[in-house]
Amino acid sequence: MADRPTFYPAGTLVSVLTTQPLDRTLDYRAPEGGIADGAFVMVPLGPRQVIGVVWGVGQGGFDLSKARAISKVLPVAPMREEMREFLLRAGDYTLTPMSAMLRLATRAPGLSDQPSMQKVYRLGEAEPDRMTDARTRVIAVLEEFAGLSFTLKELAENAGVSASVIKGLVAQNVVWEENTPRDLPYPRLDPDLPGKPLTESQSSAAEILRKGIQSGAYGTTLLRGVTGSGKTEVYLEAVASCLAKGRQALVLLPEIALSAEFLTRVEKRFGARAAEWHSGVTMTERRRAWKMVGEGEAQLVVGARSALFLPFRDLGLIVVDEEHDSSYKQEDGVHYNARDMAVLRASLAGAQVVLASATPSLESWVNAQAGKYQRIDMTDRFGAAVLPNMKALDMRQEEMASGQWISPSLKAAVDARIAAGEQSLLFLNRRGYAPVTICRACGDQIECPQCDARMVEHRFLKRLMCHQCGESIPMPEACPKCEVVGKLSAVGPGVERLTEEATTLFPDARIATLSSDLFASSRALKQAVETIANGGADIVVGTQLVAKGHNFPLLTLVGVIDADLGLHGSDMRAAERTFQLMRQVAGRAGRADRPGEALLQTFQPEHPVIRAILSGEEEEFWNAEAESRAQAGMPPFGRMAGIILSAEKPEIAFAAGAELARNDAPLRRAGAMVYGPAAAPIARIRGWHRVRMLVKAPKGAPLQRAVSDWVNGVRLPKNLRLAIDIDPQSF
Ligand code: ADP
Ligand code: ZN
Repeated sequence: MADRPTFYPAGTLVSVLTTQPLDRTLDYRAPEGGIADGAFVMVPLGPRQVIGVVWGVGQGGFDLSKARAISKVLPVAPMREEMREFLLRAGDYTLTPMSAMLRLATRAPGLSDQPSMQKVYRLGEAEPDRMTDARTRVIAVLEEFAGLSFTLKELAENAGVSASVIKGLVAQNVVWEENTPRDLPYPRLDPDLPGKPLTESQSSAAEILRKGIQSGAYGTTLLRGVTGSGKTEVYLEAVASCLAKGRQALVLLPEIALSAEFLTRVEKRFGARAAEWHSGVTMTERRRAWKMVGEGEAQLVVGARSALFLPFRDLGLIVVDEEHDSSYKQEDGVHYNARDMAVLRASLAGAQVVLASATPSLESWVNAQAGKYQRIDMTDRFGAAVLPNMKALDMRQEEMASGQWISPSLKAAVDARIAAGEQSLLFLNRRGYAPVTICRACGDQIECPQCDARMVEHRFLKRLMCHQCGESIPMPEACPKCEVVGKLSAVGPGVERLTEEATTLFPDARIATLSSDLFASSRALKQAVETIANGGADIVVGTQLVAKGHNFPLLTLVGVIDADLGLHGSDMRAAERTFQLMRQVAGRAGRADRPGEALLQTFQPEHPVIRAILSGEEEEFWNAEAESRAQAGMPPFGRMAGIILSAEKPEIAFAAGAELARNDAPLRRAGAMVYGPAAAPIARIRGWHRVRMLVKAPKGAPLQRAVSDWVNGVRLPKNLRLAIDIDPQSF
């Protein structure tokens, strides 16, 4: 751990970095009692008080009698030197101003105001004298987050009730009110509890990770293992050694919906719950997590990508589970890839990184080939479970009626599983009822009023929703364009429609649909998953939600409704994504001792990607992918940046793009090329028109400097927004 921070005596001029969008630090006087470098403070800025961090000695150079004093020192641990370095480097890499980086690092609710005691509410034992809708909602919220406590305001907001409803329940002892010190420490996790006895390949993998932890130095390992090989068991061993060494660990998961299952697993392994960090966690809990992480009192954090910006005191391990998952890339505000930032953070902290995946990203595969990452391969599934037999169903040969998506061959396979008392999964990566709604009177396809995507019908919710911007409207009866009533008709399948078809084809089967929007809460989802795992369904109809790590021991058949779905895009990553998704979905079949089968409905069984999926020749697939990317000079063999220009009028965005294209000298000097302007992959969002330019540079080129010189060298109109995306996901 680092030495004590520099201390500035009262009255000294210090620099303060604030979360306000200024491109520099501001000078303030240290308050009475002095202040530590890195301290979190409140400072006056104009008429307001804003959050900041003490950032070295003051710059001076102005009338010092005018310098204002720091108003308040916040009662949290000062930002460590290592965290400051992380924010600086991550900001340089992503071309993000430091004020925006600091905002990522101060996402703790209530940071600026921290009383020491507070009233919190949790579920009591008594029954209410009578139930009302409002009371039911309060109890449902408390049950959902069992074990967590809420402030009055949080509980009222979450349940959508007034404070008096809660007070009424308190009077009857249905809800307990407690006066607790704010931010209780977490219960201790016990790394010495025994884990499951490991198989030979698991224990040798665990041993390699343990050595890394013991070294106390930075290192990254790609833990590649087929689904069900026990990667989670293995990296929990690494977590155990890290905790035993007294250092903190962070496990990043791509999907909040998965965290419930994972947290239970952690609790079983270490005897206590880990701290949680994601958008579904209550404000009280987030504030507690932030503070306890900073004090080293939270030993293990399970979280979403933003957990990387928590103020860890002594971080020894970061696990990035499903490291290939595209949700690790944040495409809003600060554009960063949590997988890459995890490596940066660990390298500064002297920590180990474990990138776990059954189907790694091409980037990580290449880094392992190049020796930058250590690589562990786990090829066997745990126990007697074997990988499923994979086969294509050639849709050109199948007799299909219109409006039907389950082929006769697939139906026969499902029938056989039902007869054998086993489960089948029908996989379609499309939420909702139908991807397109067309008016049979005027021919119009209903589009999102806010952006350029087509609205998707969600019949269960009786709404049209935009999967691009989130806009949602009640399902209309009349066409929004021609106003004719009763002529709207669904085109193409979504999971809800597939469920409808399955219900007709398999009238006696118990069918469960797993799609993120069908569950009001993560608890409801968890319950559905448990019901399925315990044999409560014969057929599961699901989106990619099921591809991610749920264990269904009775599942032996996976039917992929449209294996070609991901291949149509012009995106360079289309092949990689389809390969990963198909292999992962197939991996759902045939876990515990039952051999599985995966059937892929496809119109192009000879497509190279489909062939690679079927043969499972992963090494060959990655080699071929790497080769074609290398030839095109595409990442990871070249570097790219995306520039998104958005304006309320498309002409403005295009004109700015053209101006940038004409002034590309800074790029050319660095050996980089610029393409565009062209309509962005998401061309209109919330009323803003978006235009994209792509910069491509050779591997060693100073991309960030070239891009920043370039965009700063052109005067852009005020009514234009510019966002820079280093390493864009789609290109
Ligand atoms: P992965 O993360 O590679 O998909 P998991 O760690 O989730 O694999 O393991 C798959 C299943 O096998 C889980 O239900 C897990 O509990 C079980 N399992 C794996 N290894 C062992 C072991 N050594 N002993 C007992 N059960 C194991
Ligand atoms: Zn939209």
